[in-house]
Amino acid sequence: MPIKIFNTLTKKKEIFEPINKNKVTMFVCGPTVYDHSHLGHARTYIAYDIITRYLRYRGFNLFFLMNITDDDDKIIKRSKERSIEPTKLAREFEQSFYEDMKTLNVLSTVNVFARASEHIKEIISQIQRLIDKSFAYVSTNGVYYDITKFEDYGKLSHQDTEQLEKHRIEPDSTKRNPQDFALWKFEKQSDLSWDSPWGRGRPGWHIQDTAIAEKYLGQQYDIHGGGLDLIFPHHESEIAQMESLSGKKPMVKYWTHTGFLMVNGEKMAKSLGNFVFIKDALKKFDAETLRLFFAFTHYRSPIDFTEKNLEQSKKSLDRLYTTLENVHSMKATKNITLQEKQFDMRFLGYKQKFIDAMDDDFNTLEALKVLFKMSNEVNKFITHRKELNKDVKENILNMFRELGGIFGILQKEIKKEELSDDIKKLVDEREEARKKKDWKTADEIRIKLNKMGVTLEDTPEGIKWKIKK
Ligand code: AMP
Repeated sequence: MPIKIFNTLTKKKEIFEPINKNKVTMFVCGPTVYDHSHLGHARTYIAYDIITRYLRYRGFNLFFLMNITDDDDKIIKRSKERSIEPTKLAREFEQSFYEDMKTLNVLSTVNVFARASEHIKEIISQIQRLIDKSFAYVSTNGVYYDITKFEDYGKLSHQDTEQLEKHRIEPDSTKRNPQDFALWKFEKQSDLSWDSPWGRGRPGWHIQDTAIAEKYLGQQYDIHGGGLDLIFPHHESEIAQMESLSGKKPMVKYWTHTGFLMVNGEKMAKSLGNFVFIKDALKKFDAETLRLFFAFTHYRSPIDFTEKNLEQSKKSLDRLYTTLENVHSMKATKNITLQEKQFDMRFLGYKQKFIDAMDDDFNTLEALKVLFKMSNEVNKFITHRKELNKDVKENILNMFRELGGIFGILQKEIKKEELSDDIKKLVDEREEARKKKDWKTADEIRIKLNKMGVTLEDTPEGIKWKIKK
């Protein structure tokens, strides 16, 4: 089955056929580095991390490019508040972003991070070419893109001229049309400005991304991504710039957008003050729990952020690890029974189901359901067994690690848990009490053990214990 991707441009799921056969080029809008990143950012970057891991898993040679916006008004504003140089501030929060991405296991999937401030030459070149082709003009406040010159303006956000005109825009009599957007903003005072053929200033927001993308990926590439809020005006304007400049359509073959992380019905955002920094979330939950939490929702859908949902994800992850620990602790045998053979065949069949789910526009929820079904199947199979054929055992462990790796989960070392001597003594005492049908003592010991972080389960094969994480 081919991979299908929902394309914002056509509003359809389309068969994924990269421009260059097996080579895939992808650009994802990076952060504006004026503060620490929050979980809303994590939602988007983890989604693209999973998409990347999956496409690479399916054999595509994917090149992942991300820009870093380090020349924005927000950076200047914040640097003034803190009385430090804007570039110093930007570097500080860029570093903080990398730290978070590293802990979340996202950092290494990106091939190149490109700072806007280090691509001024490319930005100026694009603006000049747009002026030469009469798509852009110089006015008192800067260089602007004339949207009336590009008849496709609105095609990504599916808006007609009337709808486009409804967007609230600061009145500016120096522009030809209210909707024209800045390619270069004149600015003499700020530390964050550069010389250009039209005057000192800094780049507009949209031109940074097309300049960076053109340098590394060319004028047409496969996938462009970001949160839903970037469709308009950001991505719409990127299309106008690049397609008018190159004359080639489409600039991007598959436009993809992630749904928001929401808090009480509102987008998690700095401006709304309803955010949780990634760093703070990581104090309570580990990276795998956060990744599973996001993967439980399809990348295009909104997610409700609540601590309860995160705790639920932690429990689900623990369940999967318990299965792996149980398998891991079983004695491996050389001989294989007919039942084991049949189980192995059935189990390996789940891989295709997982792939089918992911092929369908990266349906992580359906793929996770397969992973949990696998876990249930394994648990059922091993309940009454103490030993397992060594190949079957390896297949089980490897497949969870392989498929889990696409979500960035189940990558921790599986260890046989050991009980300390005093806990072991209590477990034995409880077993003794149970044998004597002294339920009161058995219950008291169970409660005591629970407080010490050990849960007990009475099974037909005897007592199974688990150390709470
Ligand atoms: P920013 O630094 O605000 O430009 O955001 C960087 C990326 O994170 C963009 O792709 C945004 O769409 C995305 N983003 C920001 N907030 C959220 C959120 N609450 N949910 C999902 N993505 C978000």
